Amino acid sequence: MTSFDSSCALFTWSSPIVDEFPRSKSTCGPIKCGQARLYWDLGKYPAVAVAGLGDASKWDELDEINGAKENVRIAASAGVRALAGCKIGRVEVEDLEDAQAAAEGALLANYKFQPYKCKDKQTSLPEVSLAEQAEGAVEWERGWILGGAQNWARVLMETPANLMTPTIFAETVQTKMATVGNGVQVLVHDEAWAKEKGMGSFLSVTNGTKEPAKFLEITYKGEGSDDKCIALVGKGVTFDSGGISIKPSASMDQMRADMGGAANVAATIYALAQLKAPVHVKGFIPLCENMPSGTATKPGDVVFAMNGKSICVDNTDAEGRLILADALCYASTFEPKFIVDIATLTGAIKVALGDCVAGVFSTNSALWNQIHEAGSDTGDRVWRMPLFKHYSDQMCDHGGYDLNNLGKGKGGGSCTAAAFLREFVPKNTPWMHIDIAGVMGDCSDQTWMGAKGMTGRPMRTLVQFITNAKV
Ligand SMILES: [Zn+2]
Repeated sequence: MTSFDSSCALFTWSSPIVDEFPRSKSTCGPIKCGQARLYWDLGKYPAVAVAGLGDASKWDELDEINGAKENVRIAASAGVRALAGCKIGRVEVEDLEDAQAAAEGALLANYKFQPYKCKDKQTSLPEVSLAEQAEGAVEWERGWILGGAQNWARVLMETPANLMTPTIFAETVQTKMATVGNGVQVLVHDEAWAKEKGMGSFLSVTNGTKEPAKFLEITYKGEGSDDKCIALVGKGVTFDSGGISIKPSASMDQMRADMGGAANVAATIYALAQLKAPVHVKGFIPLCENMPSGTATKPGDVVFAMNGKSICVDNTDAEGRLILADALCYASTFEPKFIVDIATLTGAIKVALGDCVAGVFSTNSALWNQIHEAGSDTGDRVWRMPLFKHYSDQMCDHGGYDLNNLGKGKGGGSCTAAAFLREFVPKNTPWMHIDIAGVMGDCSDQTWMGAKGMTGRPMRTLVQFITNAKV
């Protein structure tokens, strides 16, 4: 194994699930990062993939990424995909000197969404494990949990909206959390409960659909954690047609993933519980559909949030902020250390930042610095956006009601959305809003994740940030 150039990762070997597989004759020359070369019949293994680890210093400082870790993910992915492409049944992965990153890369690459395809048409994926003689079993396990949780978030987001209604989402989360066995509590509240709490803003979004809205409250309290919780709020619009302000039909199917924030919150807590992280986290997830009908909220309607503020709904497609407003109010009643909300909130964030980084707005620079650092480590980066008073004025300066769900000015749609949310967080509670609409699906930067489609990003960054967060 050591006879190979150390700049390459020799990391996978396997047993075949078929008698014959294609044999590559290309065995010469350097192997670039992200590429893998297959060798056959080397000792005890019928196939070995050697993947290029590349040079971590090739990442520019301004890329703000831990290049060594990211290269390991890319290499692990390349190796697993090369072997999977030859219908290899079992793949063992070397630790690549960073077993956690190796597990993340291997697991996220070994994913395909195909539950609704008939069994004999499904692509079989190999079993992946850490090689017996490799080091870093503990780190591998951590990466395995993180990669697995992100793949779960991908499935939640990818599942068609008729098969992932608010009710099904709630049941799916309950079932999943029950498998952890570390005391994750899941409460599923109904519309009557939300009405009693005064969540008129949240409930206004569900007026146009027959699917009942739900509100999930998930609690994980790790051993030795503080009494005060960290609050995570996730947008859970299981399908967003836009409502009466209906969206164009092209790509509307993508709006099945408008519950990406909810998927991130659920998967983050699922990972933290499996990792037995010593943190106290509560997840708050408002779940509903946004549909047009004779009973739907109309543009210009005024609704009232849990904190008594009145909101004019000028555009029913700006519904994420309406459901988050009440979820933020409710989360605040627990007097958390800080609140983070995660939402596929605005198309404007994709215009601003593209599909490689999530936008973060924060009232607390310490929290921003910590998530920024976490994003560099996990390779799933974040970028700070402004919370200027200018944007708040655009949302709040109206006669007749307290807020409008649309900004007055042109442009800056992500910033005015964040300014809107800020009105529902108590001034003394540190808060962070993460707009993940840009990194929701089909991202062009992390092609090593294999399959196209919904990404579950930036779940691994959230887990790392919450594990170490200090305010
Ligand atoms: Zn919308």
